[in-house]
Amino acid sequence: MISIIIPCYNEQESLPIFYKKVTAVLKTLDMDYELLFVNDGSSDNTLEELRCLSHIDPHIKYFSFSRNFGKEAAMLAGFSNASGSYIAVMDADLQDPPSLLPEMIKIIQSGEYDSVATRRVSRLGEPPVRSWFARRFYQIINKISDTDIVDGARDFRLMRRNMVEAITSMNEYNRFSKGIFGWVGFRTYWLPYENVERVAGETKWNFWKLSQYAVDGIISFSHAPLSIASFFGITITIPSFLFMLVVVIRKLLFGNAVAGWASTICVIIFIGGLQLLCLGIIGQYIAKIYMETKHRPHYIISETNKEPDVKISTGQ
Ligand code: UDP
Ligand code: MG
Repeated sequence: MISIIIPCYNEQESLPIFYKKVTAVLKTLDMDYELLFVNDGSSDNTLEELRCLSHIDPHIKYFSFSRNFGKEAAMLAGFSNASGSYIAVMDADLQDPPSLLPEMIKIIQSGEYDSVATRRVSRLGEPPVRSWFARRFYQIINKISDTDIVDGARDFRLMRRNMVEAITSMNEYNRFSKGIFGWVGFRTYWLPYENVERVAGETKWNFWKLSQYAVDGIISFSHAPLSIASFFGITITIPSFLFMLVVVIRKLLFGNAVAGWASTICVIIFIGGLQLLCLGIIGQYIAKIYMETKHRPHYIISETNKEPDVKISTGQ
């Protein structure tokens, strides 16, 4: 059986189109399937849409969050509740073409790979500024992190159950899936395709959210910013110490040390700024540690049509 996980946040327009397209493809496969829709606290009619679809099609299971927890949490909810031996994640906006599914299944069934991931080779239809920053992000994170994070990689991928179990065993609160997929390893086949624009609705990512996502990714998968802070510290302390020696010796030899107000102010402001920057970097890590130590649930499900798992009674 194949389980398809679809995180949905305000996707009322896309859902019926997605459902039709994906079902048409899945029916051609010689395989049982389930569609796991995760409603990530939508404020539109996504939940009503899911209830209606689940009444007409028993392949549909839906989970509705009590509020918006983010796509990462929605994917995790899907992974934890999927029962197929193959598990895929797809966006609801048809930016992940269902027509690729048969090929992906063929590749994974060949037995050589544990996962088939997709990578868009173009960023057609995306604002050029966004593409530029995205490229820089991938360049930077790949330089400073040990985990391989592929440029253009989508979350659209098909995995074997063992890989999904490895992913759900990672219990971290700050989940950066692009890093997690790379971190768990396994043999991955990369399938390139041309970018597709969303069928309906709007992207949930604005520039601010994307920058936040980039910072989260870097902090979750690299210690480099902390090393940069130490680097600043060392490169400034050594010349400052030498400069201090010069100042003291000059004072002892020639007396007058009053001149140089401008340079003093420049140094104070510069060092003050650097200290704040380094504190900020450390603060980012502490904030993440703080959230991790609370052990809060990743999501809260307020409604689902999935029957509760049957508990085996031991008779005691
Ligand atoms: N999504 C979600 N929770 C969020 C934001 C997005 O579940 O907080 C879902 C959204 O419904 C879609 C997928 O994640 O199915 C990708 O979102 P979007 O299309 O907005 O991102 P883009 O394709 O523009 O990167
Ligand atoms: Mg999209």
